[in-house]
Amino acid sequence: QKEEWAKLKDESTITADGEQAELGANIGTPEDVAGVLNNGGEAIGLYRTEFLYMGKNELPTEEEQYDAYKSVLEQMGDKPVVVRTLDIGGDKELSYLDLPKELNPFLGFRAIRFCLENENVFRTQLRALLRASVHGNLKIMFPMIATLEEFRQAKAILSDEKEDLKQEGIKVSDQIEVGIMVEIPSTAVTAKQFAKEVDFFSIGTNDLIQYTMAADRMNERVSYLYQPYHPAILNLVSSVIEAAHAENKWVGMCGEMAGDSIAIPILLGLGLDEFSMSATSILPARTQIRGLSKEKMASYKDKFLSMGTAEEVVQFVKEKTE
Ligand code: PEP
Ligand code: MG
Repeated sequence: QKEEWAKLKDESTITADGEQAELGANIGTPEDVAGVLNNGGEAIGLYRTEFLYMGKNELPTEEEQYDAYKSVLEQMGDKPVVVRTLDIGGDKELSYLDLPKELNPFLGFRAIRFCLENENVFRTQLRALLRASVHGNLKIMFPMIATLEEFRQAKAILSDEKEDLKQEGIKVSDQIEVGIMVEIPSTAVTAKQFAKEVDFFSIGTNDLIQYTMAADRMNERVSYLYQPYHPAILNLVSSVIEAAHAENKWVGMCGEMAGDSIAIPILLGLGLDEFSMSATSILPARTQIRGLSKEKMASYKDKFLSMGTAEEVVQFVKEKTE
């Protein structure tokens, strides 16, 4: 089977009925890029930048960050690279920032909430990203966006830094797309409004599922409620895709669900444009997608969305893809 997969390394991802999808990878460091290319990755759908900040005693400098972003962009050439700005808090702590302990860290002071209050930390990262942007196909993504104001504020700071760099005579790409993670239900529900202002969405199902089902993603006691195929999740995902497409924007998914063999036929049917997963899942996913008809999966859309339970969804998908 490995040999079959390897043959598809340099092929594009096309369904049996000739529709294109994009398969990207999630990475944490520039060293991960080689594995992505070896596995036929067409993009980096999520670069989790928190690793630059973790496992050390102080914040990374602008230069350190610039080097890392430039390395990833150069290795990927003209392939898209979605870099997510700092997402600490929740399960990811930074000892040197001395943030107070919270009762509900997953509902607390994390990601964009932290960055908008610690503007100096945020601005340093944005400058490093903007400077690196001339070395490849950079897209910038903000995590944990819950309101339009947060997005507007983050984007204004980005524009501000861009102007400053230009004033200083430093080159910045003018093709940088700016998007958001859709991982909070409020944002999924108001995706129509967001779609007018963002360049793209990437659905973060790891968090979207825990917030929608009110089931902590780290708590095994309630893991039975952590259900990717639950109709509530599928309805949210579908409405986010519809909202984006109505504004001619693209939608990816970078949660674990994007690389799941039961989820892939459903997501294809709902119209997802980009699937971002661990590098080793790319070739199996490409093999699977090449055997699926997008039109056929799309014809089951209403069925997926109106089912009562995750179990029914799984049974149905298995039946239809056998
Ligand atoms: C997600 O929430 O789905 C996601 C991709 O982000 P993380 O797993 O880093 O929270
Ligand atoms: Mg997340």
